[in-house]
Amino acid sequence: AKRASMRVGKVLQEILPMIRNEALLHSVTVIYRPKPELPPILADKELLKQVFLNLGKNAIEAMGEGGTLIIRENHYPYESDKIAIEIQDTGPGIPPDFLDKVFDPFFTTKPQGTGLGLSVCQRIVHDLGGSIEVLSSEEGTKFIVWIPYDGGER
Ligand code: ADP
Ligand code: MG
Repeated sequence: AKRASMRVGKVLQEILPMIRNEALLHSVTVIYRPKPELPPILADKELLKQVFLNLGKNAIEAMGEGGTLIIRENHYPYESDKIAIEIQDTGPGIPPDFLDKVFDPFFTTKPQGTGLGLSVCQRIVHDLGGSIEVLSSEEGTKFIVWIPYDGGER
């Protein structure tokens, strides 16, 4: 892959117009919380855009009409060598029995779904030495994409 050092905010800025368009069609409010002081990551920008687009699209699809999509960049002391990109929705959540299946290829609950989105996201992120975490309740779902800093521990 053609990896380069980049700010994750730059990657998010490039897909936000697409996310906002899709959100507008479903009356979803989009909130983006950038953190400009985060260090750069080493990644293939096009592949990373695919990850965040997939997660944003899933969030909007989960909410149906209305709701709020919050995208955050974060850094936590307990994962000091990684940044966290959080994609949070106010949808119905993922039933506990499904939580460990959503990353399986072809697992879908959508009539027209392929079930490939999350498995592809996970592969891309694992290739970067990162991981994807999912937290869900009846109040909504949050996917956290962990990516090592450029030069950080892997
Ligand atoms: P697809 O979108 O084609 O169904 P994905 O791999 O992207 O495939 O997602 C797999 C399944 O995970 C979805 O069908 C859905 O059941 C569940 N899922 C993913 N994201 C969310 C979300 N934000 N809220 C609720 N369920 C979700
Ligand atoms: Mg999907």
